[in-house]
Amino acid sequence: PPPPPHFFFHAHQAIADAQESRGLGDVYKRQLLNIAMTLERTFVAIKPDGVQRGLIAEILGRFETKGFKLVGLKQLTPSKELAEKHYGVHKDRPFFSGLVDFITSGPVVAMVWEGEGVIASARKLIGATKPLEAEPGTIRGDLAVNIGRNVIHGSDGSDTAVFEINLWFQENELVDWNPSDQAWRVE
Ligand code: UDP
Ligand code: MG
Repeated sequence: PPPPPHFFFHAHQAIADAQESRGLGDVYKRQLLNIAMTLERTFVAIKPDGVQRGLIAEILGRFETKGFKLVGLKQLTPSKELAEKHYGVHKDRPFFSGLVDFITSGPVVAMVWEGEGVIASARKLIGATKPLEAEPGTIRGDLAVNIGRNVIHGSDGSDTAVFEINLWFQENELVDWNPSDQAWRVE
């Protein structure tokens, strides 16, 4: 099957744009290509416990102040079908049905964040799955105690990021924009 649209966004399209750009110096062109090839997007969701506990601003702020770019944001109570697809890799695990019940029990804040290295960095900001093993300074290390109430989800790799972004968002829900201070974030 053809790759989903968001894949074209961050790999093919951006690289093609950079290659086709005319009238630009080689150095600048190479810089554009580097940016295009390292551009990543990841899916992050504040789970129902994080929403109920009033932690939306705190959690959003961790990614915002880090310097990543928010390109998608919405609140929804996931359907059972969405939850089962999202956690499909865990369908044979004993915690699966409880996990689906939990994630569909109330509103979730779904987000897409963009930036160089954002997939791995988001996982670091989030911390270990078991909050008692998560380092202080991480979201789970600072804000949670229990594996079944670990407040946040983040894609664990580039394939899952593409899959999850396409599962949770329509393409027209993602906003391509440039923060006015971008030159102060990325050299
Ligand atoms: N989970 C659970 N019990 C377990 C293992 C996992 O409730 O024994 C839940 C937990 O909410 C976790 C999610 O299932 O965040 C997905 O598990 P995974 O191993 O993918 O952890 P994550 O990627 O969220 O760190
Ligand atoms: Mg996972």
